[in-house]
Amino acid sequence: MPTTNFIDTATIWLHAGKGGDGAVSFHREKFVAAGGPDGGDGGRGGDILFVADDNLSTLMDFRYKRKYTADAGENGRGARQKGKDAEDLVIRVPRGTVLKQAETGLVVADISGDEPVVVARGGRGGWGNARFATPTRQIPRFAKPGLPGEDLHVTLELKVIADVGLIGFPNVGKSTLLSMISAARPKIANYHFTTLTPVLGVVRVAEEQNFVCADIPGLIEGAAEGVGLGHDFLRHVERCRLLLHVVDVSGSEGRDPKADFAQINHELAAFSAELARRPQIVLGNKCDIAAPEQVEAFRAFIEEQGLTFLPISAATRQGIDGLPALVYRRLQDLPPVKVFEAEYVRPDPAAAPKRPFSCRRTGDREFTVDAPWLERILAGTNVEDYESLQYFQTQLGDSGILDELVRLGVQEDDTIKIGEYEFDYVY
Ligand code: GDP
Ligand code: MG
Repeated sequence: MPTTNFIDTATIWLHAGKGGDGAVSFHREKFVAAGGPDGGDGGRGGDILFVADDNLSTLMDFRYKRKYTADAGENGRGARQKGKDAEDLVIRVPRGTVLKQAETGLVVADISGDEPVVVARGGRGGWGNARFATPTRQIPRFAKPGLPGEDLHVTLELKVIADVGLIGFPNVGKSTLLSMISAARPKIANYHFTTLTPVLGVVRVAEEQNFVCADIPGLIEGAAEGVGLGHDFLRHVERCRLLLHVVDVSGSEGRDPKADFAQINHELAAFSAELARRPQIVLGNKCDIAAPEQVEAFRAFIEEQGLTFLPISAATRQGIDGLPALVYRRLQDLPPVKVFEAEYVRPDPAAAPKRPFSCRRTGDREFTVDAPWLERILAGTNVEDYESLQYFQTQLGDSGILDELVRLGVQEDDTIKIGEYEFDYVY
């Protein structure tokens, strides 16, 4: 039993929300010349989360919408009013979707569980100038801008088990049929053009009843011998439990439907005997332009072989409406495809890049630390709160930054610049 599957992919951009800016504002009171600083903090930018949705079966939607941006946090206001945090953006994907960095292929997240996964973090809100009131700096005139949210370019990958494959010669109407029974939008063309990758469509029969149908691009003669693209297409067919064999009964392109049917089956058998035994439902398409005698002659030919024949017209919808339910019922009797194993390797946390930083002397008594990750932590640190400050200092120590500063000869009361922040170095 073949267990390989289609891999459905889409590449998208994620932009988490920017943090709101901190406000510069001064408290005004009657009879008080200049009040204290009271600018509030900006709100947090929205995160982007992914959650598994069992009603989804393909990544089709992500081929049409590729850019996802979470809202920005609200800016802070006067009177110490904090800006509102932005709402998170929740993206629903089929269960089992794997997110990888588009450039490196590194796995970012695996959306298999029930819990939503945060994939891109929104920026922290900036501090309002109220935060900067210290005994030595009574009238702070600056506030912090909000930090930008994370930007990610990710590839979504989903292994899809297509239950049903549409096979047949080019131009018999496979793509048209799929567009009629699903939301997929395959290319429909009146010429012998075949797409390289199968188009997948979810066919809904009723609530909680659906199946995935693959539009296998047209088989060409000699496919089984590896001529042209046909061989790859046959590998796709191999993965389907049931085949819908579409034939142009009208012979509109000067072809003989019986010969076409036999030819396709010959290709399947030459590729694999197993494939030749795969159950088929034969769809006689283009009935709208076929003579009734043509349809009946073909029906007799198919039924003689003990197969199910349905006359349809993808163009006029004749025979189409009942098709999904019929296919679904047939699928119920067929053995299930084995569940696939994940093929990707989980990232080793130990191999994750260390938190990079660089320190350099930038003045007589001044050092500058360059470490964007630390600026993020700093933006969330309340210097008036002992525990919060403690956490920040632990990060400084653990990362090796303090050691590096000592190595560079830092002295008591020297100024340490980290991003837009300045600190005094105290033992
Ligand atoms: P595929 O190569 O098998 O995917 O075929 P397409 O779906 O691209 O269809 C090929 C051509 O046949 C297109 O011009 C369609 O509009 C046309 N076609 C498909 N189904 C029907 C049908 O039921 N009746 C008629 N008259 N034309 C059809
Ligand atoms: Mg097609």
